[in-house]
Amino acid sequence: MRASSDDVVRGTNDDASLSRLSAVTAGYLDDTFAKLFVRRPMRRNPIINRGTYLRTSALDKLVSQFAAVHASLGRPWQLVSLGAGSDTRYLLMKTSGQQPRKYFEIDFAEVTTRKAMALSKPSAQKLLGTAQPGKGGAELYADDYCLLAGDLRHFEQELVPRLEQHGFDREQPTLFLAECVLVYMLPQDADRVLRWTSTHCPTAGFIIYEPCQPDDAFGQVMVQNLRGRGVELPGLSQYPDLLAQRTRFLNLGWHGATAVDMDQVHDRHTAAEELRRIAKLELLDELEEWRLLAQHYGIVWAWCEETKGDGSTASQPHLA
Ligand code: SAM
Repeated sequence: MRASSDDVVRGTNDDASLSRLSAVTAGYLDDTFAKLFVRRPMRRNPIINRGTYLRTSALDKLVSQFAAVHASLGRPWQLVSLGAGSDTRYLLMKTSGQQPRKYFEIDFAEVTTRKAMALSKPSAQKLLGTAQPGKGGAELYADDYCLLAGDLRHFEQELVPRLEQHGFDREQPTLFLAECVLVYMLPQDADRVLRWTSTHCPTAGFIIYEPCQPDDAFGQVMVQNLRGRGVELPGLSQYPDLLAQRTRFLNLGWHGATAVDMDQVHDRHTAAEELRRIAKLELLDELEEWRLLAQHYGIVWAWCEETKGDGSTASQPHLA
Protein backbone atom coordinates (compact mmCIF):
# COMPACT_ATOMS: atom_id res chain seq x y z
CA MET A 1 0.00 0.00 0.00
CA ARG A 2 1.31 3.45 -0.87
CA ALA A 3 2.00 5.72 2.11
CA SER A 4 -0.27 8.79 2.27
CA SER A 5 1.43 12.17 2.27
CA ASP A 6 0.54 12.48 5.98
CA ASP A 7 2.31 9.14 6.63
CA VAL A 8 5.38 10.48 4.90
CA VAL A 9 5.28 13.65 7.02
CA ARG A 10 4.89 11.58 10.19
CA GLY A 11 7.87 9.49 9.07
CA THR A 12 10.11 12.57 9.11
CA ASN A 13 10.00 12.30 12.89
CA ASP A 14 11.83 8.94 12.77
CA ASP A 15 14.54 10.63 10.79
CA ALA A 16 14.83 13.46 13.34
CA SER A 17 15.02 10.97 16.25
CA LEU A 18 17.70 8.90 14.51
CA SER A 19 19.74 12.02 13.83
CA ARG A 20 19.42 13.21 17.42
CA LEU A 21 20.62 9.86 18.78
CA SER A 22 23.47 9.77 16.26
CA ALA A 23 24.64 13.23 17.38
CA VAL A 24 24.42 12.13 21.02
CA THR A 25 26.37 8.92 20.38
CA ALA A 26 29.08 10.83 18.49
CA GLY A 27 29.48 13.17 21.48
CA TYR A 28 27.95 16.37 20.05
CA LEU A 29 24.96 16.48 22.38
CA ASP A 30 24.29 15.34 25.91
CA ASP A 31 20.85 13.76 25.97
CA THR A 32 20.21 10.55 27.90
CA PHE A 33 16.62 10.44 26.62
CA ALA A 34 17.32 10.33 22.88
CA LYS A 35 17.63 6.54 22.95
CA LEU A 36 14.11 6.10 24.30
CA PHE A 37 12.70 6.99 20.89
CA VAL A 38 14.87 4.92 18.56
CA ARG A 39 14.57 1.21 17.99
CA ARG A 40 17.44 0.73 15.54
CA PRO A 41 20.16 3.35 15.99
CA MET A 42 22.08 4.36 12.91
CA ARG A 43 25.21 6.46 12.60
CA ARG A 44 24.69 9.61 10.53
CA ASN A 45 27.44 11.25 8.56
CA PRO A 46 29.44 14.07 10.21
CA ILE A 47 27.60 16.78 8.24
CA ILE A 48 24.24 15.66 9.60
CA ASN A 49 25.63 15.27 13.14
CA ARG A 50 27.04 18.77 13.07
CA GLY A 51 23.77 20.17 11.70
CA THR A 52 21.76 18.41 14.41
CA TYR A 53 24.09 19.75 17.07
CA LEU A 54 23.87 23.35 15.81
CA ARG A 55 20.10 23.31 15.40
CA THR A 56 19.54 21.80 18.83
CA SER A 57 21.96 24.02 20.70
CA ALA A 58 20.74 27.23 19.01
CA LEU A 59 17.11 26.41 19.79
CA ASP A 60 18.11 25.48 23.36
CA LYS A 61 19.70 28.90 23.75
CA LEU A 62 16.59 30.75 22.60
CA VAL A 63 14.29 28.62 24.75
CA SER A 64 16.54 29.11 27.81
CA GLN A 65 16.50 32.85 27.34
CA PHE A 66 12.72 32.95 27.21
CA ALA A 67 12.66 30.81 30.36
CA ALA A 68 15.23 32.96 32.16
CA VAL A 69 13.56 36.29 31.32
CA HIS A 70 10.17 35.21 32.58
CA ALA A 71 11.60 33.42 35.60
CA SER A 72 13.51 36.61 36.55
CA LEU A 73 10.26 38.59 36.29
CA GLY A 74 8.53 35.99 38.45
CA ARG A 75 6.09 35.18 35.67
CA PRO A 76 4.90 31.62 35.14
CA TRP A 77 5.17 30.76 31.45
CA GLN A 78 4.19 27.90 29.13
CA LEU A 79 5.65 26.24 26.07
CA VAL A 80 3.66 24.76 23.17
CA SER A 81 5.65 22.51 20.88
CA LEU A 82 3.86 22.08 17.55
CA GLY A 83 4.72 18.87 15.66
CA ALA A 84 6.84 17.90 18.65
CA GLY A 85 7.54 14.39 17.38
CA SER A 86 10.01 12.61 19.67
CA ASP A 87 11.63 15.80 20.87
CA THR A 88 13.26 15.29 24.30
CA ARG A 89 13.34 18.96 25.31
CA TYR A 90 10.69 18.69 28.04
CA LEU A 91 12.64 15.90 29.76
CA LEU A 92 15.92 17.78 29.48
CA MET A 93 14.41 21.02 30.80
CA LYS A 94 12.84 19.19 33.69
CA THR A 95 16.18 17.55 34.51
CA SER A 96 17.80 20.98 34.70
CA GLY A 97 14.88 22.54 36.59
CA GLN A 98 14.13 24.98 33.75
CA GLN A 99 10.76 23.59 32.73
CA PRO A 100 7.82 25.95 32.27
CA ARG A 101 4.66 25.86 34.36
CA LYS A 102 3.26 23.65 31.62
CA TYR A 103 4.85 22.10 28.57
CA PHE A 104 2.37 21.13 25.83
CA GLU A 105 3.27 18.90 22.90
CA ILE A 106 1.09 18.33 19.84
CA ASP A 107 1.49 15.88 16.97
CA PHE A 108 -0.56 13.42 14.94
CA ALA A 109 -2.06 10.59 17.06
CA GLU A 110 0.16 7.99 15.36
CA VAL A 111 3.23 9.88 16.60
CA THR A 112 1.93 10.78 20.07
CA THR A 113 0.87 7.17 20.75
CA ARG A 114 4.46 6.06 20.26
CA LYS A 115 5.71 8.97 22.32
CA ALA A 116 3.35 8.16 25.19
CA MET A 117 4.68 4.58 25.18
CA ALA A 118 8.30 5.76 25.23
CA LEU A 119 7.51 8.15 28.09
CA SER A 120 6.29 5.22 30.18
CA LYS A 121 9.85 3.87 30.38
CA PRO A 122 11.33 4.30 33.88
CA SER A 123 13.84 7.11 33.21
CA ALA A 124 11.11 9.32 31.70
CA GLN A 125 8.38 8.19 34.05
CA LYS A 126 10.48 9.20 37.04
CA LEU A 127 10.61 12.80 35.78
CA LEU A 128 7.06 12.97 34.53
CA GLY A 129 5.49 11.79 37.79
CA THR A 130 1.88 10.69 37.70
CA ALA A 131 0.50 11.03 34.19
CA GLN A 132 -3.02 10.11 33.13
CA PRO A 133 -3.32 8.50 29.70
CA GLY A 134 -6.12 9.63 27.39
CA LYS A 135 -7.61 9.11 23.91
CA GLY A 136 -6.80 5.40 23.84
CA GLY A 137 -3.16 5.94 24.77
CA ALA A 138 -2.50 8.77 22.31
CA GLU A 139 -2.41 11.48 24.99
CA LEU A 140 -0.84 12.04 28.40
CA TYR A 141 -1.78 14.56 31.06
CA ALA A 142 0.61 15.33 33.93
CA ASP A 143 0.97 18.33 36.25
CA ASP A 144 3.50 20.19 34.14
CA TYR A 145 3.23 18.28 30.86
CA CYS A 146 0.49 17.55 28.35
CA LEU A 147 0.78 15.49 25.18
CA LEU A 148 -2.09 16.08 22.75
CA ALA A 149 -3.00 14.27 19.54
CA GLY A 150 -4.31 16.39 16.70
CA ASP A 151 -3.81 17.93 13.31
CA LEU A 152 -2.29 21.41 13.23
CA ARG A 153 -4.35 22.14 10.13
CA HIS A 154 -7.32 22.38 12.55
CA PHE A 155 -5.49 24.32 15.22
CA GLU A 156 -8.09 26.87 16.22
CA GLN A 157 -11.22 24.72 16.01
CA GLU A 158 -9.88 21.49 17.49
CA LEU A 159 -6.61 22.05 19.28
CA VAL A 160 -7.09 25.38 21.05
CA PRO A 161 -10.13 24.14 23.02
CA ARG A 162 -8.23 20.99 24.00
CA LEU A 163 -5.17 23.02 25.04
CA GLU A 164 -7.40 25.24 27.19
CA GLN A 165 -9.12 22.24 28.69
CA HIS A 166 -5.67 21.13 29.88
CA GLY A 167 -4.52 24.40 31.39
CA PHE A 168 -3.24 26.51 28.48
CA ASP A 169 -3.65 30.14 29.50
CA ARG A 170 -3.66 32.74 26.70
CA GLU A 171 -2.67 35.47 29.12
CA GLN A 172 0.52 33.76 30.27
CA PRO A 173 3.80 34.29 28.41
CA THR A 174 3.93 31.51 25.86
CA LEU A 175 6.71 30.18 23.71
CA PHE A 176 5.62 28.32 20.56
CA LEU A 177 8.13 26.03 18.95
CA ALA A 178 7.84 24.44 15.49
CA GLU A 179 11.06 22.64 14.64
CA CYS A 180 10.95 21.50 11.04
CA VAL A 181 7.15 21.30 10.98
CA LEU A 182 5.44 24.24 9.24
CA VAL A 183 7.30 23.60 5.99
CA TYR A 184 5.35 20.35 5.54
CA MET A 185 2.03 22.21 5.77
CA LEU A 186 0.33 24.28 3.09
CA PRO A 187 1.33 27.91 3.73
CA GLN A 188 -2.28 28.97 4.35
CA ASP A 189 -2.71 26.25 7.03
CA ALA A 190 0.52 27.17 8.80
CA ASP A 191 -0.25 30.89 8.52
CA ARG A 192 -3.54 30.41 10.35
CA VAL A 193 -1.55 29.06 13.32
CA LEU A 194 0.85 32.03 13.24
CA ARG A 195 -2.03 34.50 13.00
CA TRP A 196 -4.04 32.89 15.79
CA THR A 197 -1.08 32.86 18.17
CA SER A 198 -0.11 36.50 17.55
CA THR A 199 -3.73 37.62 17.89
CA HIS A 200 -4.66 35.75 21.04
CA CYS A 201 -1.44 35.55 23.05
CA PRO A 202 -0.36 39.05 24.11
CA THR A 203 3.08 37.97 25.38
CA ALA A 204 4.55 35.31 23.16
CA GLY A 205 7.52 34.08 21.23
CA PHE A 206 7.50 31.80 18.19
CA ILE A 207 10.57 29.89 17.04
CA ILE A 208 10.76 27.94 13.82
CA TYR A 209 13.54 25.93 12.23
CA GLU A 210 13.08 25.36 8.50
CA PRO A 211 14.89 24.62 5.27
CA CYS A 212 15.34 27.59 2.93
CA GLN A 213 16.78 28.64 -0.47
CA PRO A 214 15.18 25.90 -2.61
CA ASP A 215 15.94 27.63 -5.91
CA ASP A 216 19.73 27.66 -6.17
CA ALA A 217 21.61 24.60 -7.43
CA PHE A 218 22.15 23.05 -3.98
CA GLY A 219 18.56 23.83 -2.95
CA GLN A 220 17.18 22.11 -6.01
CA VAL A 221 19.15 18.95 -5.26
CA MET A 222 18.00 19.08 -1.62
CA VAL A 223 14.33 19.37 -2.65
CA GLN A 224 14.71 16.64 -5.31
CA ASN A 225 16.29 14.27 -2.77
CA LEU A 226 13.40 14.77 -0.39
CA ARG A 227 10.88 14.37 -3.20
CA GLY A 228 12.54 11.10 -4.13
CA ARG A 229 11.62 9.92 -0.62
CA GLY A 230 8.06 11.18 -1.05
CA VAL A 231 8.58 14.27 1.15
CA GLU A 232 7.08 17.51 -0.17
CA LEU A 233 7.82 20.92 1.31
CA PRO A 234 4.82 23.08 0.34
CA GLY A 235 5.82 25.83 2.78
CA LEU A 236 8.88 26.62 0.69
CA SER A 237 6.79 27.71 -2.28
CA GLN A 238 5.58 30.80 -0.46
CA TYR A 239 8.41 31.31 2.02
CA PRO A 240 11.58 30.31 0.19
CA ASP A 241 14.10 32.34 2.17
CA LEU A 242 14.69 33.89 5.56
CA LEU A 243 13.65 37.36 4.49
CA ALA A 244 10.30 35.97 3.33
CA GLN A 245 9.96 34.12 6.65
CA ARG A 246 10.67 37.28 8.62
CA THR A 247 8.16 39.26 6.59
CA ARG A 248 5.65 36.46 7.04
CA PHE A 249 5.72 36.82 10.82
CA LEU A 250 5.43 40.61 10.64
CA ASN A 251 2.50 40.37 8.22
CA LEU A 252 0.78 37.88 10.51
CA GLY A 253 0.72 40.19 13.51
CA TRP A 254 4.05 39.51 15.24
CA HIS A 255 5.75 42.66 16.53
CA GLY A 256 9.28 41.71 15.59
CA ALA A 257 11.18 38.86 13.99
CA THR A 258 14.79 37.86 13.36
CA ALA A 259 16.19 35.18 11.10
CA VAL A 260 19.61 33.55 10.72
CA ASP A 261 20.83 30.66 8.62
CA MET A 262 22.78 27.85 10.23
CA ASP A 263 26.02 28.96 8.62
CA GLN A 264 25.70 32.24 10.55
CA VAL A 265 24.74 30.34 13.68
CA HIS A 266 27.95 28.35 13.29
CA ASP A 267 30.23 31.32 12.60
CA ARG A 268 28.70 34.05 14.74
CA HIS A 269 26.63 32.46 17.45
CA THR A 270 28.59 29.44 18.63
CA ALA A 271 31.26 29.78 21.31
CA ALA A 272 34.83 29.23 20.09
CA GLU A 273 35.46 26.49 22.66
CA GLU A 274 32.36 24.65 21.48
CA LEU A 275 33.58 24.84 17.87
CA ARG A 276 36.95 23.46 18.98
CA ARG A 277 35.26 20.67 20.92
CA ILE A 278 33.02 19.51 18.07
CA ALA A 279 35.86 19.79 15.54
CA LYS A 280 37.67 17.05 17.49
CA LEU A 281 34.74 14.64 17.52
CA GLU A 282 35.00 13.32 13.96
CA LEU A 283 36.67 14.18 10.72
CA LEU A 284 34.64 16.52 8.51
CA ASP A 285 36.18 16.32 5.04
CA GLU A 286 33.33 17.89 3.10
CA LEU A 287 33.62 21.40 4.50
CA GLU A 288 32.17 23.02 1.41
CA GLU A 289 29.17 20.70 1.39
CA TRP A 290 28.67 21.39 5.10
CA ARG A 291 28.63 25.15 4.44
CA LEU A 292 26.11 24.75 1.64
CA LEU A 293 23.83 22.62 3.75
CA ALA A 294 24.09 25.08 6.64
CA GLN A 295 23.09 27.93 4.33
CA HIS A 296 19.94 26.01 3.40
CA TYR A 297 18.49 25.78 6.90
CA GLY A 298 17.63 28.60 9.25
CA ILE A 299 15.98 29.69 12.46
CA VAL A 300 13.38 32.43 12.65
CA TRP A 301 12.09 33.76 15.95
CA ALA A 302 9.36 36.27 16.46
CA TRP A 303 7.86 38.00 19.46
CA CYS A 304 4.74 39.80 20.57
CA GLU A 305 4.66 41.76 23.73
CA GLU A 306 2.47 44.31 25.40
CA THR A 307 5.10 46.98 25.79
CA LYS A 308 5.74 48.02 29.35
CA GLY A 309 5.73 51.65 30.57
CA ASP A 310 9.43 52.14 29.76
CA GLY A 311 8.96 50.86 26.23
CA SER A 312 10.98 47.70 26.94
CA THR A 313 9.93 44.19 26.07
CA ALA A 314 10.83 40.94 27.76
CA SER A 315 10.11 38.27 25.17
CA GLN A 316 12.64 39.23 22.59
CA PRO A 317 15.33 36.58 22.75
CA HIS A 318 18.60 36.78 20.88
CA LEU A 319 21.36 34.35 20.03
CA ALA A 320 24.42 35.29 22.08
N1 SAM B 1 9.85 18.85 16.02
C1 SAM B 1 10.38 17.50 16.11
C2 SAM B 1 11.88 17.52 16.07
O1 SAM B 1 12.46 18.49 15.59
O2 SAM B 1 12.47 16.53 16.50
C3 SAM B 1 9.84 16.61 14.98
C4 SAM B 1 10.15 17.12 13.61
S1 SAM B 1 9.55 16.07 12.32
C5 SAM B 1 10.62 16.55 11.04
C6 SAM B 1 8.00 16.86 11.86
C7 SAM B 1 6.88 16.54 12.83
O3 SAM B 1 5.78 17.40 12.53
C8 SAM B 1 6.37 15.11 12.69
O4 SAM B 1 6.33 14.49 13.95
C9 SAM B 1 4.99 15.29 12.09
O5 SAM B 1 4.09 14.28 12.45
C10 SAM B 1 4.59 16.65 12.64
N2 SAM B 1 3.54 17.31 11.83
C11 SAM B 1 3.64 17.77 10.56
N3 SAM B 1 2.46 18.25 10.13
C12 SAM B 1 1.59 18.12 11.17
C13 SAM B 1 0.21 18.42 11.35
N4 SAM B 1 -0.52 18.95 10.35
N5 SAM B 1 -0.35 18.14 12.53
C14 SAM B 1 0.37 17.58 13.54
N6 SAM B 1 1.68 17.26 13.44
C15 SAM B 1 2.29 17.52 12.26
